[in-house]
Amino acid sequence: MARPVVFWFRRDLRLQSNRALAEASSAGPIVPVFVLDSHLLGPAGPNRRWFLNRSLEDLNDQTGGRLIVRSGDPSEVLGQLAGEVGAEHVFATDDFGPYGRRRDTAVGEHLAGRGISTHYRGSNYAVAPGTLRTKTGGSYQVFTPYFRSWRQHLDAAAEDHIDLTWGPTVGSEVLPDRPEPTAPDLPTAGHDAAWRRFEQFRAVIADYPEARDRPSLDGTSRLSPYLKWGTLHPLQLVEHLGHSPGEDEFVRQLCWRDFYADVLFHRPDSARRPYAAHNAVRSDTDAPARRRFHLWRDGHTGYPIVDAGMRQLLAEGWMHNRVRMITASFLVKDLHVPWQWGARHFLHHLVDGDLASNNHGWQWVAGTGTDASPYYRVFNPTTQSQKFDPDGDYIRRWVPELARVPARFIHDPTHDPRGAPAPYPPPIVDHAVARAEALARYEQRRRHR
Ligand code: FAD
Repeated sequence: MARPVVFWFRRDLRLQSNRALAEASSAGPIVPVFVLDSHLLGPAGPNRRWFLNRSLEDLNDQTGGRLIVRSGDPSEVLGQLAGEVGAEHVFATDDFGPYGRRRDTAVGEHLAGRGISTHYRGSNYAVAPGTLRTKTGGSYQVFTPYFRSWRQHLDAAAEDHIDLTWGPTVGSEVLPDRPEPTAPDLPTAGHDAAWRRFEQFRAVIADYPEARDRPSLDGTSRLSPYLKWGTLHPLQLVEHLGHSPGEDEFVRQLCWRDFYADVLFHRPDSARRPYAAHNAVRSDTDAPARRRFHLWRDGHTGYPIVDAGMRQLLAEGWMHNRVRMITASFLVKDLHVPWQWGARHFLHHLVDGDLASNNHGWQWVAGTGTDASPYYRVFNPTTQSQKFDPDGDYIRRWVPELARVPARFIHDPTHDPRGAPAPYPPPIVDHAVARAEALARYEQRRRHR
């Protein structure tokens, strides 16, 4: 009888189509473990921790109650567990993030010292970060050529069914805490919920190319939290899809997730610092900037589409992609606040919060990322709102103070001859003035390059 093998779950919380788990299971009976690591749990706010907790409960059910959850330094926890069950091998899906890579090297070295080998296999991406290279051997900095190459490299998903034999059961040292989420309306976690959501979305995927930019519609997949924790692997989704325009557009969006992970893989420093430092424009960090940041954070800027988005984030731990762009642009270019403040706030609340997609999404908006929206392109929150929420339904849903404002005034209630409804604040900045200031700062930066 083969010795048990420790399988270390991280962001691959599924028993199907899991390359590393399949390989582990052919090496011996599986002892499944998840390590609650304070380094990773720190930046995740209560919403993401709640969702993780529920995802672990679901995974535990799927393993027949065998999932071990322990808290602490992964090297120590895994070394101890391997000793308890007599395992000589630890398997895990490879991690490509800045912290994950450092941790995995440290774990590998620590366990090797105890005679235990670690095996990192597969990835949580359709194409693993670091795989694709330009013709000159460099990394991709522009999305479209990356996407072209990505499509050609798409692998088949790992075998769906894995023959699993379980190893000895040992107790969890800690039951996962049950953090109270701050958002009252979070999605259901787990395998069945993820696939139900995918089927719902598939029924309307033909409308995706247009509907995906309309925040009032349920027109996007909302699969991001399941992809974040690996309840689903992106290749499983690709395999279920054909080549209609809606399906193609959706697969293209999945590629953005891989692209940003690839960018971060090559430039781990860009998690916190501008990718393109020469494009970084001066921002304010004084007390008035802090006050502006707080009004933005709480959804009280007087710009209805911005306030709607920020309130959706607080209520659902999720925000529509178009509105992520509008609210982020408003913080950086209208309020002149550092993108890092906004990125941290998003990461705290987002149930799908992901370092690569979030921080590079912010850098795209701030004009410092790869392939970024240039800094001088300043989103006008009112015209964006008119274009993407023409009837104001999204605003009415999240800003109830404006529920009775007619569509033609809802994007800018200051023009309503009856005046804005009393509790709704006037705009905290004049967009035209803020835009001129943003452009002046950009010009200053350009001259000093
Ligand atoms: P769909 O439209 O159904 O897209 C399907 C999947 O494709 C998504 O689930 C996601 O995995 C991927 N995807 C789509 N657009 C992007 C994109 N622009 N960048 C990377 N992946 C993408 N996405 C996150 O998963 N986590 C984040 O923390 C995050 N922060 C963001 C911050 C900002 C400022 C911006 C502009 C975007 C951010 N995004 C983030 C990307 C995008 O907003 C979300 O992936 C998307 O809104 C999730 O909803 P969905 O699953 O319905 O998307």
